[in-house]
Amino acid sequence: MFELPKAFSVLGLPVHIMKNYPDWLLDCLREEKGTHVVTLNAEMTMQAERNPALSKVIQNAELVIPDGAGVVLYLQYLLGQDVQRFPGIELAENLLQVVSQQKKSASIFFYGGAPGVAAKAADLWQKQLPQLQILGTHSGYHFPEEEQQLLQTLTQLQPQVIFVGLGVPRQELWIAQNRHLCPHSIWVGVGGSFDIWSGTKTRAPGWLANNNLEWLYRLYQEPWRWRRMLALPEFALKSLVYRWTVRCE
Ligand code: UDP
Repeated sequence: MFELPKAFSVLGLPVHIMKNYPDWLLDCLREEKGTHVVTLNAEMTMQAERNPALSKVIQNAELVIPDGAGVVLYLQYLLGQDVQRFPGIELAENLLQVVSQQKKSASIFFYGGAPGVAAKAADLWQKQLPQLQILGTHSGYHFPEEEQQLLQTLTQLQPQVIFVGLGVPRQELWIAQNRHLCPHSIWVGVGGSFDIWSGTKTRAPGWLANNNLEWLYRLYQEPWRWRRMLALPEFALKSLVYRWTVRCE
């Protein structure tokens, strides 16, 4: 029987904790259980506070993983959970690896990123894991009229795994709006993963990530993010106030 993941509340949003996310997703594939995967971090949590549509989509997602350091620290220190950070890009990479090891690889589609980026990422993955069945890619910058064509393509192909890299909250809202077209697929919002896989951008060195400082590297690479990153201290403050209020009740 299908095991439902255990959910914990981080500022009112669910986060699912389980031992092996990729294996759980393999079960979803086997059982053709359509799944939306959200990779939650502090910034997204704060966006959801201001954007009820995003909040609703996260509430309805079948799997919400702890992508960011803030969310993990909340789960560890405020809820006492033994949990590790699982960045969305690593979940996506693990998923590609495990599906490629199956007798017949699941079919994959990449959508998002600047023109050519998803195609290059797909090419590199195909070389690394030749068994992967990547059915197609589509850039995330296009005229509105191309959208219909993309939706038709997805409907015809029915890829089993669809990675959508349009940034938050665009990708989450887009998935929620269109997932009925491929009801048995696993849909994952992958942010800027295609940029990393294609070599357009680089990830923070391990020692920064291991010390919960990946956000600092992003700020160094993309200084224009500073305003968005004000969400991090806001998240920390809200978390403390929230827990303090709950304790006092
Ligand atoms: N993007 C896109 N279409 C858009 C806006 C953004 O395909 O209209 C892509 C962009 O090229 C980048 C990704 O979305 O690859 C956003 O990456 P980011 O790391 O900023 O995502 P977030 O931090 O929001 O998860």
